[in-house]
Amino acid sequence: AFVIGEPCVDVKDMTCIEECPVDCIYEGERMLYIHPSECIDCAACEPVCPVEAIKPAQHVDDRWRPFQESAKSAFDVLGSPGGSTKVDPPIEDTEYVKNFEKN
Ligand code: SF4
Repeated sequence: AFVIGEPCVDVKDMTCIEECPVDCIYEGERMLYIHPSECIDCAACEPVCPVEAIKPAQHVDDRWRPFQESAKSAFDVLGSPGGSTKVDPPIEDTEYVKNFEKN
């Protein structure tokens, strides 16, 4: 699956949402999130992101990893809410946003 990382925070360009053929990119309060098990690895979203916030899971580095893990745990709770659903607090409350604010 592809993963959205820190460059998306407070940007939320949303072009990726239009590109995704399976509607697996969800809008949160401050960033967008890719559903890790709905993503079909088509890579359509990666080149359209203006801030290069999207990476394939195999290229996730330490800065991206907390975003990957928090998206996974949030969607474990949420299941598959449907593409146009907003997925706010479960992910926003996770450690990565708090850590991001400090840096
Ligand atoms: Fe959607 Fe394809 Fe991007 Fe996965 S890789 S989030 S399926 S556009």
